[in-house]
Amino acid sequence: MVTLTLRSGIADCTKVLAFPWCEISSTMVRSGMTTLNDFKETVRQQADIVRVIGDYIKLKKAGAQNFVGLCPFHGEKTPSFSVHATRQYFHCFGCGKSGDVFKFVQEHEQISFPEALRLVAEKVGVPLPKMQYSSEGEAEDARQRGQLIEMHERACKFFEDQLRRPEGAHAREYLAGRGLKEETIRTFRIGYAPDSGFTLKDRLKNDFSEALMRASGLFSWKEGAESNIYSKFRNRIMFPIANENGKIIAFTGRTLATDEKAGPKYMNSPETPIYSKGRVLYNLDRAKEAIRKLGYVIIVEGQMDCIAVYSGGDGVYRNAGAAAGKVQQRYCRQL
Ligand code: ZN
Repeated sequence: MVTLTLRSGIADCTKVLAFPWCEISSTMVRSGMTTLNDFKETVRQQADIVRVIGDYIKLKKAGAQNFVGLCPFHGEKTPSFSVHATRQYFHCFGCGKSGDVFKFVQEHEQISFPEALRLVAEKVGVPLPKMQYSSEGEAEDARQRGQLIEMHERACKFFEDQLRRPEGAHAREYLAGRGLKEETIRTFRIGYAPDSGFTLKDRLKNDFSEALMRASGLFSWKEGAESNIYSKFRNRIMFPIANENGKIIAFTGRTLATDEKAGPKYMNSPETPIYSKGRVLYNLDRAKEAIRKLGYVIIVEGQMDCIAVYSGGDGVYRNAGAAAGKVQQRYCRQL
């Protein structure tokens, strides 16, 4: 299961990975303003566990403070699942599952803790924490991250679209040759970056500033010259890399060119305000539930291996770097 801590150092990591809906800055945590813990306690106090669980399963009163029902986590015909109103706690005598209101929602909905926290907050009408920034600069950074995520989503759609155009024929052939079915290509949102420096830029330039495009890692430029940015990824199969919430934050491009000038076979997005190689695991957004259930992960080297194994139905992610970094290992242990 996921436990999240907002200790300095991994605060940025959890921010990007887990709390897109609530930007709790490390500054806020340090200065003791509204922290995640305060918010969690507020929601817990407002949420009546009997009412919340009662939305999922039928509960019957069985004592002054006790309610019972059929356990939703294991099959049973006589109720061994009990909810205590004052202790705000559930326990199943059949399968042993127990915990607070967040634990129940997390297990029942098969979602992460942050997602459960948001869901319960919304159920009981506690407003989500407002973005509060300690400085203009910090607010600007958050705004920029939001725009970069938006730009990556647009770029991903663009690459997917290009794969289905006549210019993408050789890319489709390559993927078919690797045994990838259309369904898998759609699931992983695999695309094609055309062999042109300017089509993506032309697609984005009306909605995003050039400074933002430079910050995105999707473009290259020659130092000194102005307004001459061009696509970094050209004539490549594009694999989007998502954060834990499925938001696209980077790409890996596999070249389809065979000549010397084609550059590296695999090219990754550089580090950007939304992407840090050491903190992102390819396919974690899809694999996390399987990892929790199975209790293990399979780490493979390349995206194609990952897609191949994932299609076989296991909890697989791919490491963006060569070896699992410390943050990644810790993150996995938290699952
Ligand atoms: Zn049970």
